[in-house]
Amino acid sequence: MSSGQTRIRRRHSLALRLTLWYSGIFAGSCALAFAFVYALIVVAVQERRDEDLSGDVAEFAALYRSDGQARVEHEMQLDTLGEEAQKSFFRLWARDGRLVLATDLTAFPALGPPPASLFEAAVANEPILETLDLPTRDHPVRAVYGAIARDLIVEIGESVEDDEEFVAALLRGFVAPLFTFVLLGVPAGWFLARRALRGVEDVTRTATEIAAGALDRRVEVPGEGDELARLAQVFNAMLDRIQALVVGLREMADHLAHDLRSPLTRIRAAAEMAQANSSAESAEASLAATATEECDRLLEMIDTNLEITETESGAAYLHLADVDLALLVRDACELFQTVAEDRRVELNAALPADCRLRADRQRLQRVIANLLDNALKYTPPGGRVAIALVDDGTRVRLTFEDSGEGIAPEERARIFERFYRSDRSRSQPGNGLGLALCLANVRAHGGELSVASDPGRGSTFTVTLFR
Ligand code: ADP
Repeated sequence: MSSGQTRIRRRHSLALRLTLWYSGIFAGSCALAFAFVYALIVVAVQERRDEDLSGDVAEFAALYRSDGQARVEHEMQLDTLGEEAQKSFFRLWARDGRLVLATDLTAFPALGPPPASLFEAAVANEPILETLDLPTRDHPVRAVYGAIARDLIVEIGESVEDDEEFVAALLRGFVAPLFTFVLLGVPAGWFLARRALRGVEDVTRTATEIAAGALDRRVEVPGEGDELARLAQVFNAMLDRIQALVVGLREMADHLAHDLRSPLTRIRAAAEMAQANSSAESAEASLAATATEECDRLLEMIDTNLEITETESGAAYLHLADVDLALLVRDACELFQTVAEDRRVELNAALPADCRLRADRQRLQRVIANLLDNALKYTPPGGRVAIALVDDGTRVRLTFEDSGEGIAPEERARIFERFYRSDRSRSQPGNGLGLALCLANVRAHGGELSVASDPGRGSTFTVTLFR
């Protein structure tokens, strides 16, 4: 399986989605909280202004009672001196709608008289509040109408400009930090999501390695004892069970193979004897020869299988000696040259003069023969097979590159399993044990065996041995 396929694409990752959710919820909550506070402040400001206006009416009424109308008019003129005339005005009305007094109204040119009904209502009830939208002014005017005597109504108008500026400043003061918090929240959310999901990524990585064949891998259990630790424990327990089952199955297969060996050897001996006692061209001789061949095939399969088990378990003894790998490859090429010619496949090798290392000669010979045989077997006539050996002093790389049919991505990990053969290769001779044996032998030397393939264009098998 290619790493590109197994890696979760970033834009689809859970961490990214969590971050987006977190940022969205965070921004939404902040905006909601701010809108709530903002609305409360706006209402409070309006209420306070209305209370002030109503309070002014009450104060004028008290002044009228104590000092008379002249004093009220004097106070009104005083309150609208200079700049104040731009923001507020006062008018004194008789109950019959006659204007008694008006302060400077230059800043309120479009201001008309209030409806007569308002005077009656103001005399009968509490002060009446109204918002006036005057076409010549940028901001509305809040006005109050209240009776200060039985027949005298005061009208006080005040621009809401100051209040609106205060609320606008408040809005600016809130919005800038809100944006900063949301912007800071995105990396913080990404960090927290990645941290929280690290355990899941560990499980995914281990599962990927196991899918590629490393059944002995386990997930590290985090010390926090949280849900991820529990997931890692359950996952590891499941792997223990699977590994025990696989080992059990393998042992059973090995025992079965071992037990089949002796009867098969006896059947083979009997078939050989029957062949020897029959006349050369007879049907009995031919049947006995077929039985001997089939027994040989089965015995070879059993032996190879047992050899793989022995090598994988580390019980096999390696006959280490000073081996010239370049020479082994050269000999193998000579041996397979006729096979290559028969198949009309061009065989080339780029080898150094020598390449010495400590290894088991016979096992390496089998690895080379198997990989070379496969390369020739799975390359159609007219194709080519190229072998290369590169020694960098610490590491030796031996590659078998062919221009054959290639291997599908989903089959690449499976071809190293025992008895695995792709459907396409069933027309070719073989038992599906060659690559499993190669892998066991390379690993027994502490090396690695890998495959890269471009389906339809060919495959490259690489043996890496370390000094
Ligand atoms: P066998 O060749 O006997 O079938 P192996 O274990 O050597 O068994 O190979 C297992 C499978 O891997 C083959 O059946 C084939 O499908 C695939 N294979 C191995 N080598 C190559 C190659 N060079 N090109 C294409 N497929 C290959």
